[in-house]
Amino acid sequence: MIPVKAYAAQSPSSALAPFQFERRDLKEHDVLVDILFSGVCHSDLHQARDEWGGSMYPMVPGHEIVGKIIKTGVQVKKFSPGDLAGVGVMVDSCRECRPCKNYMEQYCAEGMTGTYNNYERDRVTIAQGGYSTRIVCDERWVYHISDKLDLAGVAPLLCAGITTYSPLKYAGVRPGHKVAVAGLGGLGHMAVKFAVAMGAEVTMLSTSPSKANDALKLGAHHFVLSKDAAAMKKLESHFDVVLDAVSGNHDYEIYLKLLDVQGKLLVVGLPKEAPRVSPFELIKNRRCILGSMIGGTLETQEMLDFCAEKNIVADVEVIPMHYINEAYERMLKNDVKYRFVIDMASLK
Ligand code: NAP
Ligand code: ZN
Ligand code: ZN
Repeated sequence: MIPVKAYAAQSPSSALAPFQFERRDLKEHDVLVDILFSGVCHSDLHQARDEWGGSMYPMVPGHEIVGKIIKTGVQVKKFSPGDLAGVGVMVDSCRECRPCKNYMEQYCAEGMTGTYNNYERDRVTIAQGGYSTRIVCDERWVYHISDKLDLAGVAPLLCAGITTYSPLKYAGVRPGHKVAVAGLGGLGHMAVKFAVAMGAEVTMLSTSPSKANDALKLGAHHFVLSKDAAAMKKLESHFDVVLDAVSGNHDYEIYLKLLDVQGKLLVVGLPKEAPRVSPFELIKNRRCILGSMIGGTLETQEMLDFCAEKNIVADVEVIPMHYINEAYERMLKNDVKYRFVIDMASLK
């Protein structure tokens, strides 16, 4: 077994604290990754505090992982020791069902194996995430990372990046499209970068007036305060796509109203309470609400290659491991610019 240092939550109400555990020895298709950076997703906070129900403890969160391969199993083809590597939100799936055969493992009929807060395929071991020094993972769920990009800025691509790239691509965002992004946090700021890179005219919808300049610096063409009823009224039936990356409780209606004929509301945010939807707003303009969960293994590699080609990384605030509880509190106050990333050297 492989000893690992980590930070874990022991219960929904306990702060994250130092924790040690062991990872499995390498199976033939496994790689061992020395973790350099680990991004902090709002889903980490939702799960550590059991906001979605069913959380498993002890829990080592973290599913935006970048590091270096230090060892490979005997059958590994994709990687050699010394290669840069990324691990995202899932680490396994059944591999046999239709979604798995189509490399959409996040929709596995038996349920994907999440990187943490999930049982491994053996249904006994609890998977543990990236707030740790090392991780063992089957090579199918490990990605190549370009050495041209800033590694701390790459870590958030493994969740915030793929979760916004995948639905924007599925919605066919292209030049001439008007796209709005709601919620300027980790996911929202990546959505702005991708929608701009795909050629759309992009509007940021935010509850925080202080983020206006940053939104424009990120590439958004317009910034609108979502609490400004008059400004929102002017945008009714205006957009082809609205991407909802809001973490807190809210109704879909204020964003639905903004959609033009056959417009799509792309839902990625996962608040605790189910949002309200008016069927009248839905049938008007033949609007559509479309949910999306991360992205499959092939699409994740495609997104990472797209980022390397277009020089896209997340805007990050690098923190030491022991700052994590303060980082969670700041995330709840919408005070993140725009992703916390843990420098794992602080734990070694
Ligand atoms: P984050 O960095 O905390 O950003 C969330 C942003 O939402 C905030 O910065 C704030 O932006 C806005 N917001 C928060 N509460 C709000 C409210 N009540 N009403 C309106 N706006 C509000 O979070 P994140 O890491 O980007 O994650 C966003 C959500 O996506 C989370 O719920 C997370 O669990 C979920 N998620 C889903 C997937 C998936 O596969 N679908 C993957 C990863 C994460 P402003 O200050 O601009 O208003
Ligand atoms: Zn995430
Ligand atoms: Zn499957």
